[in-house]
Amino acid sequence: MIQSVAFIGLGAMGYRMAAHLPQHFDTVYVWNRNFAKAEQHAAEYATQAVELEQAVQADVIFSCLPTSQDVENLLDGLSLKAGSIWVDCTSGVPDSAKKVAAQLKAQQVDFLDAPVSGQTIGAEKGTLTVMVGGDAQAFEKALPAMQAFGQLIKHVGEPGAGFAVKAINNMLMAVNLCAVAEGFTTLKAHGVNLNEALDCINASSGKSAVTEMVLPQRILNRAFPLTFALPLLAKDTGIALDLVRDAKLSAPVLGLAQSLIQAANATAEPDSDFSSAVKMYEAWSKITIE
Ligand code: NDP
Repeated sequence: MIQSVAFIGLGAMGYRMAAHLPQHFDTVYVWNRNFAKAEQHAAEYATQAVELEQAVQADVIFSCLPTSQDVENLLDGLSLKAGSIWVDCTSGVPDSAKKVAAQLKAQQVDFLDAPVSGQTIGAEKGTLTVMVGGDAQAFEKALPAMQAFGQLIKHVGEPGAGFAVKAINNMLMAVNLCAVAEGFTTLKAHGVNLNEALDCINASSGKSAVTEMVLPQRILNRAFPLTFALPLLAKDTGIALDLVRDAKLSAPVLGLAQSLIQAANATAEPDSDFSSAVKMYEAWSKITIE
């Protein structure tokens, strides 16, 4: 039985994910590096803003930080409670999950890599997809806590498997984003009405999450709302390509998408949403996708 939960990292995702926990658990600790955000969360959702040392005494500890390195740095020197489960919702590095899971096992703590997809709107609605790697028994124990913000929750394998699935998912989205930028600048060059073209494609075999959501909600309307930062997507495509290299496979399409997303990230304005990657194509072609 889970008596207490904690959430560490109240960013764009974490703030919203943690908001669901008080409906299911009596004791919900929150901690954030900028502590004012934790205090704001406590005031808004009746969670408890506490010091990090206290937060990590919960039965289930969630983290959602930018990178695995941030999580490793945070864990360094922390003393955890035997029998607890650390559920890391960061989109992280599989090798880091394997290493941290082994280290925490020595403290009788389980580590699950449990990255999420569904964007900030999914975090707000509690409809995220959670892809989990790690010990199967720990997964079963932590499941009720993950259900607070997750809709589809899958145990996908050993430590690192969840991070691997997430990296490949985001790589597939990046491939689509690049292909859509190329396809829609081409259509515009041929004088096609892009909104009408989009309706046709979304009723045809070329559709994807990018054409169904990203293009109409972020690009065609020129909104580019910052909910998932472009450097985070660049990080994810890097993780995916490392997986390809580790397996000694050849993945030319993924490799090209990784280079394109890196280039888009390098040339983007600060605080750019991932959808802004198409602006690189717009600059090259002098064609705006609108
Ligand atoms: P944000 O940048 O919005 O939030 C990052 C959070 O991590 C903040 O709470 C920040 O604290 C904290 N943080 C950053 N660096 C450190 C550090 N060194 N030590 C301690 N805390 C730190 O990121 P997101 O919420 O967008 O993303 C978090 C993770 O979720 C990433 O791995 C991302 O790839 C993934 N993700 C994001 C999605 C999205 O749509 N945004 C969707 C799915 C996954 P502070 O407030 O002090 O800066």
